Amino acid sequence: MAQEGDYMLYKDPNKPINTRIKDLMSRMTLSEKIGQMTQLERKNMTTNIMKNYGIGSLLSGGGSVPSPEATAREWVDMVNEFQRGALSSRLGIPMIYGIDAVHGHNNVYKATIFPHNIGLGATRDPELVKRIGVATALEVRATGIPYAFAPCIAVCRDPRWGRCYESYSEDPQIVKQMTEIIPGLQGDLPTNIVGIPYVGGKEKVVACAKHFVGDGGTIKGINENNTVADWHTLLSIHMPAYYHSIIKGVSTIMVSYSSLNGVKMHANHDLVTNFLKGTLNFRGFVISDWEGIDRITSPPHSNYTHSVLAGVQAGIDMIMVPLNYTEFIDTLTSLVKNNFIPMTRIDDAVRRILRVKFALGLFENPLADYKLVKHVGSQAHRELAREAVRKSLVLLKNGANANDPMLPLPKKASRILVAGSHANNLGYQCGGWTITWQGVEGNNVTIGTTILDAITASVDSNTEVVYSQSPTTEFLKSNNFSYSIVVVGELPYAETAGDSMNLTITKGGIDTMSNVCGNTKCVVVLISGRPLVVQPYLSNIDALVAAWLPGSEGQGVADVLFGDYEFRGKLSRTWFKNVDQLPMNVGDKDYDPLYPYGFGLTTTKVQDQVASR
Ligand code: BGC
Repeated sequence: MAQEGDYMLYKDPNKPINTRIKDLMSRMTLSEKIGQMTQLERKNMTTNIMKNYGIGSLLSGGGSVPSPEATAREWVDMVNEFQRGALSSRLGIPMIYGIDAVHGHNNVYKATIFPHNIGLGATRDPELVKRIGVATALEVRATGIPYAFAPCIAVCRDPRWGRCYESYSEDPQIVKQMTEIIPGLQGDLPTNIVGIPYVGGKEKVVACAKHFVGDGGTIKGINENNTVADWHTLLSIHMPAYYHSIIKGVSTIMVSYSSLNGVKMHANHDLVTNFLKGTLNFRGFVISDWEGIDRITSPPHSNYTHSVLAGVQAGIDMIMVPLNYTEFIDTLTSLVKNNFIPMTRIDDAVRRILRVKFALGLFENPLADYKLVKHVGSQAHRELAREAVRKSLVLLKNGANANDPMLPLPKKASRILVAGSHANNLGYQCGGWTITWQGVEGNNVTIGTTILDAITASVDSNTEVVYSQSPTTEFLKSNNFSYSIVVVGELPYAETAGDSMNLTITKGGIDTMSNVCGNTKCVVVLISGRPLVVQPYLSNIDALVAAWLPGSEGQGVADVLFGDYEFRGKLSRTWFKNVDQLPMNVGDKDYDPLYPYGFGLTTTKVQDQVASR
């Protein structure tokens, strides 16, 4: 036990990081090292467990919030309390707290919710995405959390995947460009540093590129399924964004639940250790996915010793939520003691984890204060989200032909109709990974502007806005609507729950759309995490806008519908005619889409605009 007053070199901020790591590791026992490799869910945690096991990290899994309406200050208090537990352990090593801030700080009440990645891909604007990274880091840090499990740099090749909206594009080039979010989150790498974990100060967070690798390429887009890919496909489609993330200093990388050519990525030594840490020289830490180690065996956890051995030997450094943490700790301990896992492997893991913690400044500033709380949901961030929404909208159809455009809509009209399940539902427009893992329904869940509110705020004060979620034919006929705006789409979902083989608009949405568009001039705004089947309804619809999952700032949708801003989004995905064509990606032979990759009309010059690649 170190005596008070002893000089602890690792605590000396004036020493180089490597020297501090070396000193700290020389003092650590095996159980303290394994504690560092363990990341647990806060819900089942106590400060005593933090202290006694020297737990290295905690997380809030999707929607694991202190209370549904917890304020930023309450988050800070919660994180600090656990941190005090970690600091009271023998060596006082701070824990690192992580959260899925995947479109803004989406678990936190009143935070700014940005469009999901599919919409950001349509903006084709890496600089904007970087600014979103800066804002997200600030909001996350404001709640005392220094680690975000973002960005998802999956290259989604099949929209049937329930995580397609977490992917910027089917095109590896777009995904690669959007890794600009990493310097936004972590700070710009100083020019003399290349590819070393870096976090530039108290307003930045550790980022996490996920899920390594090939998560977006699984068969039929089935979540956690197998990806079949030869080296060329892997290197040209799924790997470029990792390479670019590493160059930009990404501090952590999360392994994918999926398999590659039949090998679980969580057990893939060739790719995690040889390729990622070796060839690509990744210097940060590799984290498993939630219970990812358990899922190496099927059914999960069926041969636990094998799972732990395979996962840690594959090169995973931090284990996210092992199903049973004491069993994990005991199993790993005995694997090391019996020489199945060499001490050098454990030391590699711990060295990487400590390097990130030192880079983050956690040893100097382990406890958060309230200084940044004013940034959560700030006006400036909402403006930024609104800008992102505007730039993400893709105009797919505008009138019967170029001479008869429907958009932009006039603000002055006698009476207009707003209809559809998604017109007045903040939860729906935010999608999955919002407040809870699977998303939420309704307007009381957080602060924001619904599309209905936005339309009402945008039109001329003399224009009457009538809202009816699903109007009857009689109602439509008895009112003399100048035009109608129908907002329909998908309900929120996340991960496997979102896998869909038919990709349809909800039944209610189709009925409303058919009825309203059959009786009035209409523009349909689609709220969805991916292209959906629209071809059968197109002849009935006057204009069609893909708004993706725009998040809390619905005003951005109205800004463009009413012509205050131009449509400028371009499809970052191929829009199929029918699901039998899937998977279908730009560059495929026999490419026969409804709207090709890069498509997006403008209203100034009404003609097909295919983005130059
Ligand atoms: C997801 C990850 C996420 C993790 C923690 C998993 O189910 O696959 O993307 O970061 O949960 O919430």
